[in-house]
Amino acid sequence: MTSFTGILSDLDRVLLSAEEIHDRVANMAAQIQRDYEGKVITVVVLMDGALFFVADLLRQIDLPIRLVTLGASSYHGGTQSTGQVAIQWPAGADFVNQDILLLDDILDTGLTLSALRERLMAEKPATLRAAVLLDKKRPRSHDCPLDYCGFEIADEFVVGYGMDYQGRFRNLPCIGILKP
Ligand code: 5GP
Ligand code: MG
Repeated sequence: MTSFTGILSDLDRVLLSAEEIHDRVANMAAQIQRDYEGKVITVVVLMDGALFFVADLLRQIDLPIRLVTLGASSYHGGTQSTGQVAIQWPAGADFVNQDILLLDDILDTGLTLSALRERLMAEKPATLRAAVLLDKKRPRSHDCPLDYCGFEIADEFVVGYGMDYQGRFRNLPCIGILKP
């Protein structure tokens, strides 16, 4: 195993170790497998942050899965005052009557996931559920019901296990808080 002393030294502290993440993701996979028994899951993944989460999760689910990846960018706190989400819709995707499981790395304001949920509901799926690895405890500007959640965390900026700061730290096996 790589020890990651290089990029780990940029962390103030580790919030969730690789082992903690691994164990929790295994639990989530077992729960999802029970809930979807006998079905085909259409997994819709928000890239790039959910990349490692989805890879670890899906490899522990023994059910047929269709995988759809898409990108979304939000502009909250940026130049636009009203939150808007630009969704890169996958060409030719068919969600009618599908059992959709929407996956993202982290629920923050809820803007991204609620916009995507709304957009997907318009496609008339049979069911639509949402799963995130991290749920930030903070006042939510957009209502976003979660069906599966890995960990609740405080309102701090995290990196690692797919999540970046200016394009870095995605490959860190743990999740941590950066030095100020
Ligand atoms: P929301 O639309 O819920 O405010 O934001 C969701 C997206 O913002 C997440 O999918 C993630 O890409 C990004 N995000 C929110 N909080 C964090 C964080 O603490 N660290 C990182 N790296 N990304 C975050
Ligand atoms: Mg994201």
